[in-house]
Amino acid sequence: MNLSVAVVGAGPSGFYAADAMLKAFSGSQIDIIDQWPIPFGLVRFGVAPDHLSTKNVTKLYEKILDKPGVRFVGNVELGRDISYEELKSLFDVVILAFGMEKPRLLDIPGADLAGVISVTDFVGWYNATPESKDCGELVSRARSAIVVGNGNVALDIVRLLAKTEAELATTDIVPAAANAIVRAPLNDIYVVGRRGPIESSFSFPELSELGDLVEAQTLVDSAYLPADASSAEESVRKKKERNLRVFRTFAGNSADNRPVRIHLMFYASPIEIIGQDQITTVKMSRNTVVEGRAVATNETFMIDADLLVPTIGYELASIEGLPSLGGVVKNQDGRVEPGVYVVGWARRGPTGVIGTNRVDAREVVALISRDAPTASKPGPSSLDDVLSARSVSAVDATDWRQIDAAEIASGGSGRPRVKFTTVDEMLRVTKTKVAA
Ligand SMILES: Cc1cc2nc3c(=O)[nH]c(=O)nc-3n(C[C@H](O)[C@H](O)[C@H](O)COP(=O)(O)OP(=O)(O)OC[C@H]3O[C@@H](n4cnc5c(N)ncnc54)[C@H](O)[C@@H]3O)c2cc1C
Repeated sequence: MNLSVAVVGAGPSGFYAADAMLKAFSGSQIDIIDQWPIPFGLVRFGVAPDHLSTKNVTKLYEKILDKPGVRFVGNVELGRDISYEELKSLFDVVILAFGMEKPRLLDIPGADLAGVISVTDFVGWYNATPESKDCGELVSRARSAIVVGNGNVALDIVRLLAKTEAELATTDIVPAAANAIVRAPLNDIYVVGRRGPIESSFSFPELSELGDLVEAQTLVDSAYLPADASSAEESVRKKKERNLRVFRTFAGNSADNRPVRIHLMFYASPIEIIGQDQITTVKMSRNTVVEGRAVATNETFMIDADLLVPTIGYELASIEGLPSLGGVVKNQDGRVEPGVYVVGWARRGPTGVIGTNRVDAREVVALISRDAPTASKPGPSSLDDVLSARSVSAVDATDWRQIDAAEIASGGSGRPRVKFTTVDEMLRVTKTKVAA
């Protein structure tokens, strides 16, 4: 009997874990289960639509899907279609690779006003996460926007908001989102970091890209910029120096006649969002940094804004029977309990790049090898029985490839694809019939 393995989550960590398991336990039967009828997790729903080359990593994942013993079981959600307890009873090894899906929200007055959009809603809207909130109306009317946070996700959002129709035309952004962005009378976009430029987590390529926008100019107040990056830890000092050079270029810009200005602001935090039904102004505190932490001073100032997107992190969605600790699935080096392991963002939190999940998955599979699990549970066929008894329309790799082909076909000559935005649309093009 071969080892049966359920990998929950078809994002990078799930694929890297499945691949490493196949190598460590030849002949194992691996089901990669995902809540959506399509694989690839945040490579599809997170990575910016204009960063198409980053998405090439999916070619590797497609090869893993083709390996003997591997099945894609899409449109099946842990906690909705099958419980954690059931999954453990069906598979010899369960690997949790379901990422972090909940946005961390601002906890300040006015955070529930219209125009304050969570990062998952905003990114989900332009990247076609199924059943996402439609942000089109709010975006198409926005004159001024604030993106809170100093990581690459903030830069992705700002860059897309500042792009022209021609710049968006060759991306895989949802066309309705592109239309709303292009129609928006946006003049000012503020990127606000609670600490300084050295503490920001921007990557050099993403930061530099702000200098290449056709209709937008990026500005930084030189008063924010330190003389050098000597305050940074030695391991990252070179990277910080490179970023500092980019910030200095932006600080040398003076506003020209381009319609959009991107303001990189540091040492500031929103403390109150003001408006009747919809955000109009944001009260900000000026911060100072004490022992690496942002501390508010008495100084405050206002920014007018119709849109505010906090990009301040992600949280774990809760699954019945599965404890969390410190914001991640409770685990020790990836081991959750006998026979159950966790990888990727669900294990270590929302950090690192796609490749980080490979290293992480390999480490956990090495641990599984040392635990030496044996084959005793019924595996994939019993999962099929449970799902069909519940009339769950599971989707396989052939179905996914039909969806993929249909999306690519509707892209036409310019766009690489036009993504489906609902599960129903996806299921309609598969051989699988939607359950009545
Ligand atoms: C907006 C954004 C942009 C990013 N851009 C880049 C970039 O340009 N370059 C880069 O290197 N990294 C980028 N990253 C980081 C990168 O996407 C992550 O490191 C990586 O996707 C994490 O992999 P994961 O497998 O742990 O989680 P995910 O990619 O989130 O995969 C988790 C999978 O589990 C599924 N799932 C969740 N819950 C359940 C459930 N209950 N039942 C069944 N399935 C479930 C989800 O549908 C998903 O497919 C970005 C992240 C974000 C948020």
